[in-house]
Amino acid sequence: MEEPLVAKGAWRAKIITLFPDAFPGTLGLSLTGKALDMGLWALDALDLRTFGIGKHRNVDDTPAGGGAGMVLRADVVDAALRQAAIGAPMDRARWPVVYLSPRGKPFDQAMARDWSAAEGMTLLCGRFEGVDQRVLDHWDVQEVSLGDFVLTGGEIAAQAMIDATVRLIPGVLGNHASTEEESFSDGLLEHPQFTRPAEWEGREIPPVLMSGNHGEIARWRKAEALKLTEARRPDLLAK
Ligand code: SAH
Repeated sequence: MEEPLVAKGAWRAKIITLFPDAFPGTLGLSLTGKALDMGLWALDALDLRTFGIGKHRNVDDTPAGGGAGMVLRADVVDAALRQAAIGAPMDRARWPVVYLSPRGKPFDQAMARDWSAAEGMTLLCGRFEGVDQRVLDHWDVQEVSLGDFVLTGGEIAAQAMIDATVRLIPGVLGNHASTEEESFSDGLLEHPQFTRPAEWEGREIPPVLMSGNHGEIARWRKAEALKLTEARRPDLLAK
């Protein structure tokens, strides 16, 4: 008798959040949503509240040392991380464990590429003043920031990072786009895009794009990408 085929597990995001209703959110729409429906990736939202303490399922307490706001408790977050760890490899390269945090390393396309090549990942969404540091240290959690601004919670950051990651999984974009020619893939910002009508409000599409000369078009796009990157993001060229 033939051995049954063991299907390779699809890439999976496990999200720890006080607001599981926020998911899949925009990830449930368009290409990422279709891919989710097709099983090209999967999403588990773990409700942090269910790991809370006592009758009221408390998840937070006042900051040690005083000050405004509340801090998510180490023991509560630990219970959620334990649940998320079930069935996930311990190796962080195969399964990153991330806390969304303005203090973290800034998220970028290289991280999205690494994460998309993993088997899945766990994302911990903070709220209030954040999470007790001890549980982050204990679990060797990687802190990653969406940018230099402060959100009220990690959910929007998690969705943004999952979107950037999932669209790199083979099959998710289908034929709709190439991830090889877009911004950041070659260290440059993408060239400008145009579509019909050929003339709009007195503005024409650059004639080279209508020339049918693919060599010329490629050269023009490369030159525009360089020009844009020089003007807007010289830091990318320096890399
Ligand atoms: N007191 C914290 C901010 C807490 S904001 C500080 O000053 O660093 C509440 C939660 O929102 C955080 O726990 C984090 O999960 C999320 N968050 C806020 N800004 C973020 C950002 N730029 N990137 C990722 N997550 C962010």
